[in-house]
Amino acid sequence: MNLSRTRGTEDLDWRLTMTATLLICVLVLTDCLDGNVSAAGKGITNTSATPQVKVRCVDIGDVRWTDGFWAERFDLCHNVMIPNMWRLLEDQDVSHAYDNFLVAAGLKEGRHRGPKWHDGDFYKWLEAAAFVYGITKDENLNQQMDQIIEVIGKAQREDGYIHTPVVIRQRNQDGEVEEFENRLDFETYNMGHLMTCACVHYRATGKTTLLGIAKKAADFLYTLFQKSPRILANNAICPSHYMGVVEMYRTLGDPKYLELAKGLINIRDLIEAGTDHNQDRIPFRQQTQAVGHAVRANYLYAGIADVYAETGDKSLLGALEEIWSDVTSRKMYVTGATGALYDGASPDGSKAHSSIQLVHQAYGRACQLPNITAYNESCATVGFALWNWRMLGITADARFADVFELALYNGVLSAISLDGKKFFYTNPLRRVSHLPFQLRWSRKRQPYIGCFCCPPNVVRTIAEVAAYAYSMSDDGVWVNLYGSNVLDTRLPDGSKVKLTQRTDYPWGDTMRITVEEIPARELSVFLRIPGWAEGSRATINGKLVGNNLKSEQYFEIRRSWSAGDVIELFLPMPVQLIEANPLVEEVRNQVAVKRGPIVYCLESVDLPDGVQITDVAISRTTKFRTHFDDNLLAGTSVLQGRVLALPASDWGEALYRAMPLQAPKAVDIRMVPYYAWGNRGDAEMTVWLPLR
Ligand SMILES: [Zn+2]
Repeated sequence: MNLSRTRGTEDLDWRLTMTATLLICVLVLTDCLDGNVSAAGKGITNTSATPQVKVRCVDIGDVRWTDGFWAERFDLCHNVMIPNMWRLLEDQDVSHAYDNFLVAAGLKEGRHRGPKWHDGDFYKWLEAAAFVYGITKDENLNQQMDQIIEVIGKAQREDGYIHTPVVIRQRNQDGEVEEFENRLDFETYNMGHLMTCACVHYRATGKTTLLGIAKKAADFLYTLFQKSPRILANNAICPSHYMGVVEMYRTLGDPKYLELAKGLINIRDLIEAGTDHNQDRIPFRQQTQAVGHAVRANYLYAGIADVYAETGDKSLLGALEEIWSDVTSRKMYVTGATGALYDGASPDGSKAHSSIQLVHQAYGRACQLPNITAYNESCATVGFALWNWRMLGITADARFADVFELALYNGVLSAISLDGKKFFYTNPLRRVSHLPFQLRWSRKRQPYIGCFCCPPNVVRTIAEVAAYAYSMSDDGVWVNLYGSNVLDTRLPDGSKVKLTQRTDYPWGDTMRITVEEIPARELSVFLRIPGWAEGSRATINGKLVGNNLKSEQYFEIRRSWSAGDVIELFLPMPVQLIEANPLVEEVRNQVAVKRGPIVYCLESVDLPDGVQITDVAISRTTKFRTHFDDNLLAGTSVLQGRVLALPASDWGEALYRAMPLQAPKAVDIRMVPYYAWGNRGDAEMTVWLPLR
């Protein structure tokens, strides 16, 4: 059954509204009973009926990696990341996340342990498992999810409230405890991840078990929103529920969830003692800069993009576009990571000293991008990717796909080790062994992190990359990400399209897309030409159809296609030396090395004896050779080149010294992808190198 949406009820007579609502309830209930899933609208976000999108999502399961970069990572996600993370989450001596649900469900004695947002961590892992099931149909995963969902259902209160720290205390009659007493309890954050996870689970499995739980939670929030909007406004910390509630609207079609989503944005303006840290010091529509906690910020922006996509409220889109420009032109690392500061102050430059507030894990000032102390929480990069994905849907503007890809290959992948079992919470761009101060987070990859928000966020993103590879519009198929895969899907009009893509991307520069099935009418294929690609060209069946293609745009090929047609796209990938705006003081007179979408770094294990990482400089004439090494770092293209080693430095305790006059000597180095750093022991690392 296809759940159609009902919109614009505000102008209708209330009886019509009631009738429509009742009808929808019946439709939803019927759907729950017969377990059918609509033929369309099963994307990672369901934008099949969203009014303000130019391109729509492809259904989960319609894109499968076949070999190469993403197939290898997807397989590792299925076979290692998900089972390994399950063992962590169910081992009460490690994480207690699953035990919290067992205790809340009354299936085990005990108390809540772990951070308040641990339920959300668990839902993110479950979302990864659901998506992987949607592709693999792994029956073991299916059964495992069924058992877990039964427990989650029992942990939910009758009124729909679900948040194990409070449910457990209430069950144990452990003092007087009420929901939403403490805004740092992350209740709405946890429930938001439940909703997102439930929608993915429903689309991947066709089952409504988890969706029913999420619906009760959404209904609880709706009731609370009507009774006490201020409570909800104050508890919008790291608001994953904005995305979650919109997705519930998209899945169930009930307009009250859209009303809730719109209201959740508007009630932020009611907050009296707001902070830049939580992006609620000034009304959202007046905001022009990214400020404060970067995970909270990026989740907020992604959720608001969803609300815009459903409502067309231009005042929201205007603010999002201004903030996006602020991030990408002033506050984003070359790796696509965001949230530079461990600690800082905001608003910057205020004349009233008393108005300055502390922020942490936060967006800093414009061009304030330190390397060794870069915070760059892995969750912030995931949130940034989610936001860019939504902006791409709204605009079909390739700039958003470029930033999405940059964040994915560099910021997201760097957060997990190549064996899929160790994690970074922060993602610095330089590491030296001896620092004269301590940082709060480990600078080495860890098998478990006490604050476990990032690892499952990264794992679900890796599981779901296939969902982002293509988009659809009435005009045709949009190719967002390159990788060997099969797309087997239906266009919005129901006609079938099947394409196979073969490529060695991101190492190789040629994409070969074969049309297997396509409707007999004119149709476009839109190929993303990344911003870094100069002099790209495309052919069809060997005949040139475009040369020197404009970069940072989609190149449209419109024609009547036949099965067997072959598109070839060539994106030249010379090694590029990247420099930063001179206002980024931390990298003044330094360059980063990039090839295609991959940012490279230098690790001390790749240096000759006696040369330290802080002594290496690069010349503007340095020529890098690309070499694919099957046996290194899970198989990767490395860059080899001759660079300069400055005179060996023994700084001791000195802060300044007269510069030694000896000439630098030439040394050969190897650079590896930034995402793969920290996988070969306790190495020093740098992305930026001085230019001599
Ligand atoms: Zn995190």
